[in-house]
Amino acid sequence: MNILKIAIQKSGRLSEKSLGLLEECGIKFTNTTGTLKAKAKNFPVEILFLRDDDIPQYVEQQVADIGILGENGVLESEKDIEVVEQLGFAGCRMSLAIPNKETYTGPSYFNNKKIATSYPVILSKFLKENNINAQIEEISGSVEIAPSIGLADGICDIVSSGSTLMSNGLKEVETILKSQAVIIKNKHLSAEKEATLDKLLFRIRAVKNANNNKYILLNAPETAVEAISALLPGVKSPTIIPLAEKGWVSIHSVIKEDDFWERIDMLKEAGAEGILVIPIEKMIS
Ligand code: ATP
Ligand code: MG
Repeated sequence: MNILKIAIQKSGRLSEKSLGLLEECGIKFTNTTGTLKAKAKNFPVEILFLRDDDIPQYVEQQVADIGILGENGVLESEKDIEVVEQLGFAGCRMSLAIPNKETYTGPSYFNNKKIATSYPVILSKFLKENNINAQIEEISGSVEIAPSIGLADGICDIVSSGSTLMSNGLKEVETILKSQAVIIKNKHLSAEKEATLDKLLFRIRAVKNANNNKYILLNAPETAVEAISALLPGVKSPTIIPLAEKGWVSIHSVIKEDDFWERIDMLKEAGAEGILVIPIEKMIS
């Protein structure tokens, strides 16, 4: 009764990372291949494997209690559900693109044009906000070929690297949305399920934190400790351990992934030697 049901994509760009995240949270499943449901062995959750488009509806109706989905999917569905956490994977943007040979003149370019998309809700919102009067041609896939076969003048689709657009002779002219994977939940969960969700979110945040940080160890002369410590804010302050060699210490700390390389350069300049950088598995703050 109190098992939290989690909907994730059955197969596609979200599936592997969604399942991987739950496994990184220490949740173990017996069998996840080729099944529609999988119960965890060591945590009160069950996974339902679904088409991503169906996840918001199932969560709204509480067939599933929570789900993992792209923000674009959440917005497109217009269901009455709540986004509770951004997950930092499946990053992409939704953009408008037109054939290379066309000259883009700004959003008004799309006036009286036909735009093919699988995301009519998001697109029509953008068109309304920009006072553009365009026709939306809704198709369910292979949107990028629509202009070349004469179905539409432009497209509105998900872009990550832009290589699909390029190979279809299209150029990106407008970004209308940025998206990443998120956790959504039903708005009327029981207290027990809310408690399980809180436990799960605690673990997810520890995994996310760990992925954004690295453990760093380095050796330095004692004279450089102050300069190096200033470069290593760490969680609290760096750990400093004397080395067997007189006048030298080992310094341990945590650094952020974002400015990692710049910081390494600065540490070397400050006198750091033998720098080791180690991934962190979990980080509880
Ligand atoms: P389904 O069969 O489940 O309906 P789908 O074909 O609709 O799958 P996918 O292509 O697997 O969907 O994409 C699912 C989600 O992954 C998208 O809604 C988007 O949030 C994200 N996504 C899509 N393309 C990319 C990409 N190139 N890079 C990163 N994330 C992406
Ligand atoms: Mg889909």
